[in-house]
Amino acid sequence: MDEKLSRAIEKRRDDLVALTRDLIRFPTVNPPGEAYAPCAEFIAQRLKKSGFETQLIRGEGTPGDTDRYPRTNIIARFDGRTHGQTVHFNSHIDVVDAGDGWTVDPFEGVVKDGKVYGRGACDMKGGLAASIIAAEAFLEVYPDFAGSIEISGTVDEESGGFGGVAYLASKGFFSKPRVDHVIIPEPLNKDRICLGHRGVWWAEIETKGEIAHGSMPFLGDCAVRHMGAVLDAFEKELFPALDQKQTRMPVVPEGAKRSTMNINSIHGGQTDDYSGLPSPNVPDSCRLVIDRRFLLEEDITEVKREVTSILDRLQWERPKFHYNIRDIMEVQPLMTERDAPVVTAVAQGIREVFGKEPEYVISPGTYDQKHIARIGLLHDCIAYGPGILDLAHRPDEYVGIEDMVESAKVMALGLKVLLSGSI
Ligand SMILES: [Zn+2]
Repeated sequence: MDEKLSRAIEKRRDDLVALTRDLIRFPTVNPPGEAYAPCAEFIAQRLKKSGFETQLIRGEGTPGDTDRYPRTNIIARFDGRTHGQTVHFNSHIDVVDAGDGWTVDPFEGVVKDGKVYGRGACDMKGGLAASIIAAEAFLEVYPDFAGSIEISGTVDEESGGFGGVAYLASKGFFSKPRVDHVIIPEPLNKDRICLGHRGVWWAEIETKGEIAHGSMPFLGDCAVRHMGAVLDAFEKELFPALDQKQTRMPVVPEGAKRSTMNINSIHGGQTDDYSGLPSPNVPDSCRLVIDRRFLLEEDITEVKREVTSILDRLQWERPKFHYNIRDIMEVQPLMTERDAPVVTAVAQGIREVFGKEPEYVISPGTYDQKHIARIGLLHDCIAYGPGILDLAHRPDEYVGIEDMVESAKVMALGLKVLLSGSI
């Protein structure tokens, strides 16, 4: 590969590790959105030193935004000497709760056996650090590049991204002409390019009943039994039908290369937080939340109809069966074209660093790319970054130091291809 770029990154290896550890030490746990402002401020200070213009932007009035927990995002921009395109690296700074089962302190940034441990090490502070190092190395080697580089640290990805990328996208930060190409350094393995994700439909189904004394259930109507009939129909008809749906999307892991549905939760009758004994009632309501993941080949109206047609039929078959259904969230599936500029640039980086063809994948779940596509209307976007996806959100999460160094090289090469105007 480009020897000068490679050396510029190698000599920053210790800096990359130190930066990752510093980022892990901010316990940016979401919810509630702890330590966002100091973490964003830290990133701003770092990038200012490297010549970036920085802005802290609070997602005012977005879910969870309070003076105690402000949704503080950081956006940094470096304009080259000549005009050209803009490459943007977007990382989320929030992490999920550490949970139990750790053998090291999750917010210490422990380094052991060539790995940095901590909550967020792989998802995705290691990726953020790698993108900063990649940009700094690129600026040292190619100070006369054409175009601009942006780096953002955004909040709330783990809870939908509303105070982060969605907010910034609504203010024009993820649209042309400001930005042309976006790389999201989520942990998807250093030799894979993630082109997008499957679609999502979350809905709540409620079956209705009639309250009565539990000793005479025949006088009432049990909403939980009605929901039992719904689940039975799902088991017999819907789940087998979803299993049959294949896709041309290269979703990983293999099991997600078809339609899936998770029963997220079910609540019927009395809540279980009573003290003493429950009272003998026939439940008059039962609620079920479904989490349906769908494919590029499926239309969301059809996805919904598969469920409502079962419910409508039960209405004919079962006396007194009544239901309501409410949408909670919808996200369309996304797949960036393989010949899009950011894809070919990063692919070239992977070829040069690893001497092999990249693997192109689709994520089973969504991430902030959805807002960049839907609100920013920007489609030249991928996820590419170090770290092993399976380690995300788990105890003893880590990122490999060598993986970060290598993926920083890929990112820097990607910059070289996309901003090659005067190189
Ligand atoms: Zn993530």
